[in-house]
Amino acid sequence: MRVDVVGAGAVELPEGAVYADLVARLGAEQALAVAAGDQVLELFRPVTAASVRLLRFTDAKGRQVFRHTAAHVLAQAVKRLYPKAQLAIGPATDEGFFYDILFPEPISSADLAAIEAEMARVVAEDHPVSRQEISRQDALAWFTQAGEPFKVALIEALRDDAVITTYRQGEFTDLCRGPHLARTGLIKALRLTNVAGAYFQGNDQGPMLQRVYGTAFPSDDELERHFFLIEEAKRRDHRRLGPELDLFSFHDVAPGFAFWHPKGLALYEALVGFSRSLQQPLGYQEVSTPWIYKTELWQTSGHAAHFKDNMFLMEAEGEAFGVKPMNCPGHCLLFSETTRSYRELPLRIAEYGPLTRRERSGTLHGLLRVRGMHQDDTHTFLAPEQIEEVVAEALGLVDAIYEAFAMPIEIHFSTRPADRMGEEALWDRAEAALEGVLKEAGRPYVTDPGEGAFYGPKLDFVATDALGRRWQVATVQLDFQLPIRFDLHYIDRDGRQKTPVMVHHAIMGSLERFIGVLVEHFAGAFPLWLAPVQVRLLPISEAEHESAQGVRATLQAAGLRVELDGRNEKVGYRIRHAEKDKVPYVAVIGQREVEAGTLAVRERGGRDLGAMPVKDFVSELQHKVASRWLGPGHHAEESR
Ligand SMILES: [Zn+2]
Ligand SMILES: [Zn+2]
Repeated sequence: MRVDVVGAGAVELPEGAVYADLVARLGAEQALAVAAGDQVLELFRPVTAASVRLLRFTDAKGRQVFRHTAAHVLAQAVKRLYPKAQLAIGPATDEGFFYDILFPEPISSADLAAIEAEMARVVAEDHPVSRQEISRQDALAWFTQAGEPFKVALIEALRDDAVITTYRQGEFTDLCRGPHLARTGLIKALRLTNVAGAYFQGNDQGPMLQRVYGTAFPSDDELERHFFLIEEAKRRDHRRLGPELDLFSFHDVAPGFAFWHPKGLALYEALVGFSRSLQQPLGYQEVSTPWIYKTELWQTSGHAAHFKDNMFLMEAEGEAFGVKPMNCPGHCLLFSETTRSYRELPLRIAEYGPLTRRERSGTLHGLLRVRGMHQDDTHTFLAPEQIEEVVAEALGLVDAIYEAFAMPIEIHFSTRPADRMGEEALWDRAEAALEGVLKEAGRPYVTDPGEGAFYGPKLDFVATDALGRRWQVATVQLDFQLPIRFDLHYIDRDGRQKTPVMVHHAIMGSLERFIGVLVEHFAGAFPLWLAPVQVRLLPISEAEHESAQGVRATLQAAGLRVELDGRNEKVGYRIRHAEKDKVPYVAVIGQREVEAGTLAVRERGGRDLGAMPVKDFVSELQHKVASRWLGPGHHAEESR
């Protein structure tokens, strides 16, 4: 019998082999289960599929099998300690697993340690897991007799023709669809985290069960790292750090709209400046277009039909208006103002202005989900044969920007969906162009078939932050539809009128959201070029105050963002304060420095750079800002 294993080639197996034999043959000890199409199969199942993919803990589906099995281990431990406990359901979650249980007496979090210890015994006993198909009648009889009314209810809810299975590990049998690990001993590291109330099938008329939460990993190191990352994410939460660093605030009267404080705005301007510095040399021309339009425009653009629920609508003098959620329609109007020639293409337009989306109030989340945003939004009008050029350029922008933040990028290529508009030939050309650019650049990418927009294929970019969290950031979309809806044309080389293609791209995306991500990525300790305050000057006493003001003027004139902390406090106290505010450089000025025309410089993180002439300090900082140096003290590499 021959089985194709994705990424490992074909394997020849004897009749009656199970998937564990296949895994052993490949020496793939980390495989937890296999996937055959959509189906996930246990390693103890007989080999039937012609082609499989091995699932490890690093695959979401492999992780699910692992943690769901941990939920069974939890149930087994609970039944040992509380034989009268009644079991409901025990699925895996994104972060771990839970099991809903009716205990004879409610338990508290103090009881979790004993359950965890019993789970460790179940793991150490390393029970093989086995699967049994069972008739409905037998299943009902078994679980009724076992005193498991919730399981009985679950069986009764199954369709008549459903295959009912139980799984056994040691003395414990559970009703389950699977799939599971082959042995309990694989769950090397587990922890129960908390216990909360839950109703069976959400029915609040029924008894209140207890949901016991936990998580599990193949090693102690991975488990420790998981909890470290949770703590670290709390420490880095931009909703806490933002106000603490005096970057932004929110008020109840403007839900979803950020108030940018001077320091937050400095950060914002640094990002926009970075974007401009990359886009202007490529020929992007910046514009500012209206933010309120008559409904007529939204009908032309299709937003009235497809995006109305996400827009703020209003009425004035009996006429209906909508606040813009996107710049594209306005940029189409700009394009249509004059007769365009092929010589003008690609015509690149950029706008950083405000956009407004009516997100539901319940979904708002700090800067990560807002109603008021600004994007590094661009629209390029081009001839179909220019798609490669424009997309390659956009890919270059993505690289330049995410490299500057030390965030690795994953590329997703989304192809034509079933429901689409535009000629097939154009789709063929556009998809080939997008994929061609990726291949030409030798870039790995994931294809998401059918995930393109109805108006064109697209590239989406997912960035990984310092904690390993993934954020959907940039998007580059081809659009065949808007140029048609807005009846856009250009006169081609042959004198004929043709319809341009449009490329939408936003590389940082919403700057609000991007800043939220960056605050967490850098834990508020921004690289010098981004830091709202780059240098804080500390005159030791009143006597150096005037001299410090002179240094401040020099640094400001050199384009640096400087603060002077002349408070009547000890220098040590003021240094600690600057460290808490995550200011990259502190420059102390005493009598000696005044006389020598120097500064006593300290880097964030505590490194003492000693005395530096003011002029040298300025030129060194200017150089570091211009090169978008990631320091001082950027540890994203280490913690990844
Ligand atoms: Zn199960
Ligand atoms: Zn657009």
